[in-house]
Amino acid sequence: MKTVYLKKGKEDSLLRFHPWVFSGAVHHIDNQRPAQPGQQLDFRHCGIEEGEMVRVADANGKFLAVGHWQIGSIVVRVLSFCDEPIVAQFWKNRLQVALDARIAIGVADNPANDTYRLVHGEGDNLPGLVIDVYGKTAVMQAHSVGMHTDRLTIAQALIEVMDGRLENVYYKSETTLPYKAELGQENGFLIGQTNENIALENGLKFHIDWFRGQKTGFFVDQRDNRSLLEHYSKGRRVLNMFCYTGGFSVYSMRGGAELVHSVDSSAKAVELVNRNIELNFPGDSRHKAFAEDAFKFLDEMGDGYDLIILDPPAFAKHKDALRHALKGYTKINQKALEKIRPGGILFTFSCSQAVSKEQFRTAVFTACALAGRRARILHQLHQPADHPINIYHPEGEYLKGLVLYIE
Ligand code: SAH
Repeated sequence: MKTVYLKKGKEDSLLRFHPWVFSGAVHHIDNQRPAQPGQQLDFRHCGIEEGEMVRVADANGKFLAVGHWQIGSIVVRVLSFCDEPIVAQFWKNRLQVALDARIAIGVADNPANDTYRLVHGEGDNLPGLVIDVYGKTAVMQAHSVGMHTDRLTIAQALIEVMDGRLENVYYKSETTLPYKAELGQENGFLIGQTNENIALENGLKFHIDWFRGQKTGFFVDQRDNRSLLEHYSKGRRVLNMFCYTGGFSVYSMRGGAELVHSVDSSAKAVELVNRNIELNFPGDSRHKAFAEDAFKFLDEMGDGYDLIILDPPAFAKHKDALRHALKGYTKINQKALEKIRPGGILFTFSCSQAVSKEQFRTAVFTACALAGRRARILHQLHQPADHPINIYHPEGEYLKGLVLYIE
């Protein structure tokens, strides 16, 4: 295994268990010459293949960590701070800890729930790896070349650790792997195969389209927030904007909403929400779905809703897009706030990692002021316990939401 030597002083973040090594921290690799002043190291010809396991050492050669090598701004994603071999048993240990945590928080081994995130990247000390479980099928997603390289060993370890809970592993990394690595990866089953795709979340059924759906097929991260919404739904006229598979809509139907309208610009999403409503509430005429642009719908709708959900896609994918994104959050919230009935409740979210809790709250505050509405914050929401945040990696916090009571 090759060793990556850091510049003097660049070991500090690793000593605090932060799991990334940035390219600028590297002094040299093995016995190669360090870069001359004003020059950069040539990572493409450094003798390490992308996805290979490397050791990281400080300027004195002292071992710091072992992890996956990749060309980019993050060159090493740390798997272990111990000098241990990364073999089948390593993956099994990590996956077992992840499973034990999901059992402890009550999302796994729960007869009413077989939909949960088993591995949340850095949050589970497995940077670059996401695994969502839907009944007997796991959908595995690699965000790094290293996790892609090790996919078969991981899938096998997963089946063993899950000990009969799982039969199939579907690998869905076509759009998540770095395109520059030119891996040409296609989605497909690594283990087993199935068309059975109905999963259970808190006693509600959902069709999961892992073949064509966004992410791993479902937004598992809104489970707790959907439950909270259910408790506010009784007798309310609900508008679920950016509904995708209709998670919030199905919960508000169960909560006793008077009517539920779901909106998404994608016709495919509208088809999915209709299927999911039919699966849980066949023939129930309280629900209607609209394939429309959210901004247009909000402009043209009346003031008939008293519970509105705004769960848009990430407006800021990078820090550069931040200012524009904050304006977007203000604008969409303002439109909803202008129309919501007095005594109404707004569930509003941002899943942009680049937008902080404070920035999001300021954007919503501005929207309230511009709409001229009095608002109380009832709840401050975040990602659920199966999307844990590694305390040494605060960047893992991404989902935030507010529940407002509007006078
Ligand atoms: N609330 C959903 C997840 C939302 S994902 C859930 O709980 O599962 C974001 C959704 O917004 C996607 O389905 C996407 O199709 C939709 N979308 C993106 N831009 C939109 C727009 N301008 N108008 C309406 N929907 C939009």
